[in-house]
Amino acid sequence: MEINQLLKKGANMIKGRQYGNPVLEATLLLGELLNVDNTHIYTHGKEEVSQVIVDKFLELMEKRSKGYPIQYIINKKEFMGLDFYVEEGVLIPRSDTEILVEYVLSYIEENHNNQPINILDIGIGSGAIGLSIAYYKRNVNVYGTDISDVSLKVANINKNRYNLDNVILMESNLFEGINEENRFHIIASNPPYIPKNDIETLQREVKDYEPMKALDGGKDGLDFYRRIIPDSKRYLIEKGLLIFEIGYDQGQQIKSMMTDEGFKDIKILKDLQGLDRVVLGVKERRS
Ligand code: GLN
Repeated sequence: MEINQLLKKGANMIKGRQYGNPVLEATLLLGELLNVDNTHIYTHGKEEVSQVIVDKFLELMEKRSKGYPIQYIINKKEFMGLDFYVEEGVLIPRSDTEILVEYVLSYIEENHNNQPINILDIGIGSGAIGLSIAYYKRNVNVYGTDISDVSLKVANINKNRYNLDNVILMESNLFEGINEENRFHIIASNPPYIPKNDIETLQREVKDYEPMKALDGGKDGLDFYRRIIPDSKRYLIEKGLLIFEIGYDQGQQIKSMMTDEGFKDIKILKDLQGLDRVVLGVKERRS
Protein backbone atom coordinates (compact mmCIF):
# COMPACT_ATOMS: atom_id res chain seq x y z
CA MET A 1 0.00 0.00 0.00
CA GLU A 2 1.20 3.56 -0.71
CA ILE A 3 1.98 6.02 2.07
CA ASN A 4 -0.92 8.31 1.11
CA GLN A 5 -3.50 5.54 1.12
CA LEU A 6 -2.25 4.18 4.39
CA LEU A 7 -2.33 7.59 6.03
CA LYS A 8 -5.87 8.14 4.88
CA LYS A 9 -6.93 4.75 6.16
CA GLY A 10 -5.25 5.32 9.51
CA ALA A 11 -6.67 8.82 9.95
CA ASN A 12 -10.15 7.49 9.13
CA MET A 13 -9.87 4.89 11.88
CA ILE A 14 -9.49 7.60 14.52
CA LYS A 15 -11.48 10.45 13.09
CA GLY A 16 -14.40 9.67 15.39
CA ARG A 17 -12.38 10.48 18.47
CA GLN A 18 -13.25 13.76 20.12
CA TYR A 19 -9.65 14.61 20.96
CA GLY A 20 -6.50 14.55 18.91
CA ASN A 21 -5.58 15.25 15.34
CA PRO A 22 -6.16 12.23 13.08
CA VAL A 23 -3.91 13.12 10.14
CA LEU A 24 -1.07 14.37 12.32
CA GLU A 25 -1.26 11.32 14.59
CA ALA A 26 -1.31 8.92 11.64
CA THR A 27 1.67 10.76 10.18
CA LEU A 28 3.61 10.64 13.44
CA LEU A 29 3.00 6.94 13.85
CA LEU A 30 3.88 6.03 10.28
CA GLY A 31 6.99 8.20 10.48
CA GLU A 32 8.00 6.37 13.63
CA LEU A 33 7.51 2.95 12.05
CA LEU A 34 9.36 3.91 8.88
CA ASN A 35 11.98 5.79 10.86
CA VAL A 36 11.58 8.99 8.82
CA ASP A 37 10.37 12.50 9.70
CA ASN A 38 7.01 14.10 8.88
CA THR A 39 8.41 15.91 5.85
CA HIS A 40 9.44 12.63 4.30
CA ILE A 41 5.93 11.28 4.81
CA TYR A 42 4.34 14.36 3.23
CA THR A 43 6.66 14.37 0.24
CA HIS A 44 6.73 10.62 -0.53
CA GLY A 45 3.02 9.90 -0.76
CA LYS A 46 3.47 7.42 -3.60
CA GLU A 47 6.11 5.33 -1.83
CA GLU A 48 5.15 1.70 -1.19
CA VAL A 49 5.00 0.53 2.43
CA SER A 50 5.87 -3.08 3.22
CA GLN A 51 3.11 -5.38 4.45
CA VAL A 52 4.83 -5.85 7.81
CA ILE A 53 4.72 -2.09 8.45
CA VAL A 54 1.16 -1.79 7.12
CA ASP A 55 -0.01 -4.47 9.56
CA LYS A 56 1.84 -2.94 12.49
CA PHE A 57 0.52 0.52 11.64
CA LEU A 58 -3.08 -0.67 11.44
CA GLU A 59 -2.75 -2.62 14.67
CA LEU A 60 -1.48 0.45 16.53
CA MET A 61 -4.08 2.74 14.95
CA GLU A 62 -6.71 0.31 16.20
CA LYS A 63 -5.30 0.74 19.70
CA ARG A 64 -5.36 4.52 19.28
CA SER A 65 -8.99 4.34 18.14
CA LYS A 66 -9.88 3.00 21.58
CA GLY A 67 -8.46 6.10 23.24
CA TYR A 68 -4.91 4.88 23.91
CA PRO A 69 -2.75 8.02 23.73
CA ILE A 70 -0.62 8.39 20.62
CA GLN A 71 2.31 9.56 22.75
CA TYR A 72 2.46 6.20 24.53
CA ILE A 73 2.34 4.42 21.17
CA ILE A 74 5.23 6.35 19.69
CA ASN A 75 6.96 6.77 23.09
CA LYS A 76 7.47 10.43 22.44
CA LYS A 77 6.22 13.87 23.39
CA GLU A 78 7.79 17.15 22.38
CA PHE A 79 8.15 19.65 25.24
CA MET A 80 10.19 22.89 25.27
CA GLY A 81 11.70 21.87 21.94
CA LEU A 82 12.99 18.59 23.37
CA ASP A 83 11.87 15.05 22.58
CA PHE A 84 10.83 13.38 25.81
CA TYR A 85 10.60 9.61 25.98
CA VAL A 86 7.28 8.64 27.59
CA GLU A 87 5.56 5.36 28.35
CA GLU A 88 2.49 4.20 30.21
CA GLY A 89 2.95 4.99 33.91
CA VAL A 90 4.11 8.62 33.52
CA LEU A 91 1.96 11.63 32.80
CA ILE A 92 2.39 12.88 29.23
CA PRO A 93 3.90 16.40 29.33
CA ARG A 94 1.36 19.13 28.51
CA SER A 95 2.22 22.22 26.52
CA ASP A 96 0.57 24.40 29.22
CA THR A 97 3.39 23.37 31.55
CA GLU A 98 5.83 25.25 29.31
CA ILE A 99 4.49 28.45 30.89
CA LEU A 100 5.96 27.39 34.23
CA VAL A 101 9.29 26.44 32.65
CA GLU A 102 9.52 29.70 30.68
CA TYR A 103 8.88 31.65 33.86
CA VAL A 104 11.61 29.79 35.73
CA LEU A 105 14.11 30.29 32.90
CA SER A 106 13.57 34.05 32.84
CA TYR A 107 13.56 34.18 36.65
CA ILE A 108 16.99 32.51 36.64
CA GLU A 109 18.26 35.00 34.07
CA GLU A 110 17.04 37.94 36.12
CA ASN A 111 18.02 36.76 39.58
CA HIS A 112 20.80 34.21 39.33
CA ASN A 113 22.31 34.57 35.90
CA ASN A 114 25.14 32.08 35.35
CA GLN A 115 25.16 31.06 38.99
CA PRO A 116 25.22 27.40 40.08
CA ILE A 117 21.89 27.48 41.91
CA ASN A 118 19.90 24.47 43.20
CA ILE A 119 16.44 23.70 41.93
CA LEU A 120 14.07 21.00 43.14
CA ASP A 121 11.32 19.49 40.99
CA ILE A 122 8.86 17.57 43.16
CA GLY A 123 7.10 14.78 41.29
CA ILE A 124 9.31 15.04 38.24
CA GLY A 125 7.38 12.46 36.18
CA SER A 126 9.03 12.09 32.76
CA GLY A 127 11.26 15.05 33.59
CA ALA A 128 9.49 17.75 31.57
CA ILE A 129 9.98 20.58 34.07
CA GLY A 130 13.27 19.73 35.75
CA LEU A 131 15.13 18.36 32.75
CA SER A 132 14.18 21.17 30.40
CA ILE A 133 15.40 23.71 32.97
CA ALA A 134 18.63 21.71 33.33
CA TYR A 135 18.99 21.56 29.54
CA TYR A 136 18.59 25.30 28.96
CA LYS A 137 20.59 26.32 32.05
CA ARG A 138 23.55 23.99 32.16
CA ASN A 139 25.10 25.50 35.26
CA VAL A 140 22.11 25.03 37.55
CA ASN A 141 21.81 21.85 39.62
CA VAL A 142 18.45 20.17 39.34
CA TYR A 143 17.19 17.65 41.88
CA GLY A 144 14.14 15.70 40.85
CA THR A 145 12.04 13.47 43.07
CA ASP A 146 9.22 11.09 42.40
CA ILE A 147 7.47 8.33 44.28
CA SER A 148 6.98 6.26 41.13
CA ASP A 149 9.59 3.77 39.83
CA VAL A 150 8.39 4.17 36.27
CA SER A 151 8.83 7.91 36.53
CA LEU A 152 12.39 7.61 37.79
CA LYS A 153 13.22 5.14 35.04
CA VAL A 154 11.72 7.38 32.36
CA ALA A 155 13.25 10.58 33.75
CA ASN A 156 16.61 8.83 33.79
CA ILE A 157 16.24 7.83 30.13
CA ASN A 158 15.53 11.48 29.29
CA LYS A 159 18.38 12.71 31.46
CA ASN A 160 20.79 10.42 29.59
CA ARG A 161 19.31 11.29 26.20
CA TYR A 162 20.42 14.89 26.71
CA ASN A 163 23.55 14.16 28.80
CA LEU A 164 22.27 16.18 31.72
CA ASP A 165 24.94 15.56 34.30
CA ASN A 166 23.59 18.53 36.28
CA VAL A 167 20.55 16.46 37.30
CA ILE A 168 20.14 14.18 40.31
CA LEU A 169 17.05 11.96 40.49
CA MET A 170 15.80 10.55 43.78
CA GLU A 171 12.98 8.27 44.79
CA SER A 172 11.11 10.24 47.42
CA ASN A 173 7.60 10.88 48.66
CA LEU A 174 7.55 14.67 48.35
CA PHE A 175 10.33 15.96 50.65
CA GLU A 176 10.80 12.74 52.63
CA GLY A 177 14.04 11.62 51.01
CA ILE A 178 15.64 15.04 50.91
CA ASN A 179 18.32 15.88 53.40
CA GLU A 180 17.30 18.87 55.50
CA GLU A 181 20.68 20.43 54.92
CA ASN A 182 19.82 20.91 51.26
CA ARG A 183 18.64 24.40 50.39
CA PHE A 184 17.02 25.29 47.10
CA HIS A 185 16.78 28.60 45.27
CA ILE A 186 13.71 27.35 43.43
CA ILE A 187 11.18 24.60 44.18
CA ALA A 188 8.87 23.74 41.30
CA SER A 189 6.09 21.19 41.13
CA ASN A 190 3.26 20.02 38.93
CA PRO A 191 1.55 17.82 41.52
CA PRO A 192 -1.62 15.79 41.00
CA TYR A 193 -4.41 18.36 41.19
CA ILE A 194 -7.60 16.93 39.73
CA PRO A 195 -10.38 16.64 42.34
CA LYS A 196 -11.07 12.92 42.84
CA ASN A 197 -14.67 13.09 41.67
CA ASP A 198 -13.77 14.97 38.50
CA ILE A 199 -11.47 12.24 37.20
CA GLU A 200 -14.44 10.30 35.78
CA THR A 201 -15.32 13.32 33.61
CA LEU A 202 -11.90 13.55 31.93
CA GLN A 203 -11.37 12.35 28.38
CA ARG A 204 -10.75 8.64 27.99
CA GLU A 205 -7.14 9.18 26.90
CA VAL A 206 -6.44 10.61 30.36
CA LYS A 207 -8.70 8.76 32.77
CA ASP A 208 -8.24 5.29 31.27
CA TYR A 209 -4.56 5.37 30.41
CA GLU A 210 -2.60 8.01 32.31
CA PRO A 211 -1.41 7.25 35.84
CA MET A 212 -4.11 7.98 38.40
CA LYS A 213 -1.41 8.74 40.95
CA ALA A 214 -0.22 11.68 38.87
CA LEU A 215 -3.73 13.12 38.54
CA ASP A 216 -5.64 12.53 41.77
CA GLY A 217 -5.30 15.52 44.09
CA GLY A 218 -7.80 14.29 46.67
CA LYS A 219 -11.31 15.54 47.41
CA ASP A 220 -10.81 19.15 46.30
CA GLY A 221 -7.65 18.58 44.28
CA LEU A 222 -5.54 20.57 46.72
CA ASP A 223 -4.04 17.81 48.92
CA PHE A 224 -0.53 18.16 47.55
CA TYR A 225 -0.42 21.95 47.81
CA ARG A 226 -1.48 21.61 51.45
CA ARG A 227 1.52 19.38 52.08
CA ILE A 228 4.12 21.01 49.87
CA ILE A 229 3.56 24.70 50.72
CA PRO A 230 4.33 24.52 54.48
CA ASP A 231 7.17 21.99 54.09
CA SER A 232 8.82 23.89 51.24
CA LYS A 233 9.85 26.66 53.63
CA ARG A 234 12.35 24.35 55.33
CA TYR A 235 14.08 23.67 52.04
CA LEU A 236 13.97 27.07 50.35
CA ILE A 237 16.63 29.73 50.81
CA GLU A 238 15.46 33.15 52.02
CA LYS A 239 13.69 34.76 49.05
CA GLY A 240 13.59 31.39 47.31
CA LEU A 241 10.90 30.84 44.69
CA LEU A 242 8.07 28.33 45.05
CA ILE A 243 6.23 27.72 41.78
CA PHE A 244 3.38 25.34 40.97
CA GLU A 245 1.24 24.27 38.10
CA ILE A 246 -2.41 24.40 39.22
CA GLY A 247 -5.90 23.56 38.01
CA TYR A 248 -7.76 26.32 36.14
CA ASP A 249 -10.02 27.14 39.13
CA GLN A 250 -7.53 26.72 41.98
CA GLY A 251 -5.61 30.01 41.70
CA GLN A 252 -7.27 31.98 44.48
CA GLN A 253 -7.28 29.13 46.97
CA ILE A 254 -3.63 28.31 46.45
CA LYS A 255 -2.73 31.97 46.54
CA SER A 256 -4.33 32.29 49.94
CA MET A 257 -2.62 29.13 51.21
CA MET A 258 0.70 30.68 50.21
CA THR A 259 -0.21 34.01 51.78
CA ASP A 260 -1.10 32.23 55.03
CA GLU A 261 2.32 30.58 55.01
CA GLY A 262 4.05 33.93 54.65
CA PHE A 263 4.95 33.87 50.95
CA LYS A 264 5.26 37.27 49.23
CA ASP A 265 5.05 38.60 45.68
CA ILE A 266 2.46 35.96 44.83
CA LYS A 267 1.48 35.87 41.18
CA ILE A 268 -0.91 33.80 39.12
CA LEU A 269 0.03 33.16 35.48
CA LYS A 270 -2.48 32.27 32.80
CA ASP A 271 -2.26 29.61 30.10
CA LEU A 272 -2.86 30.08 26.39
CA GLN A 273 -6.60 29.76 26.92
CA GLY A 274 -6.56 32.58 29.45
CA LEU A 275 -7.07 30.24 32.42
CA ASP A 276 -5.09 30.29 35.66
CA ARG A 277 -2.32 27.72 35.27
CA VAL A 278 0.65 28.66 37.45
CA VAL A 279 0.99 30.21 40.89
CA LEU A 280 4.24 31.38 42.40
CA GLY A 281 5.59 33.26 45.37
CA VAL A 282 8.74 34.09 47.24
CA LYS A 283 9.62 32.86 50.72
CA GLU A 284 10.06 35.65 53.20
CA ARG A 285 10.74 35.44 56.89
CA ARG A 286 7.87 36.82 58.93
CA SER A 287 8.79 39.99 60.77
N1 GLN B 1 -3.04 19.00 33.35
C1 GLN B 1 -3.37 17.64 33.58
C2 GLN B 1 -4.72 17.32 32.98
O1 GLN B 1 -5.50 18.21 32.78
C3 GLN B 1 -3.35 17.31 35.05
C4 GLN B 1 -2.00 17.29 35.59
C5 GLN B 1 -1.94 17.22 37.07
O2 GLN B 1 -2.86 16.74 37.80
N2 GLN B 1 -0.89 17.69 37.56
O3 GLN B 1 -5.01 16.20 32.67
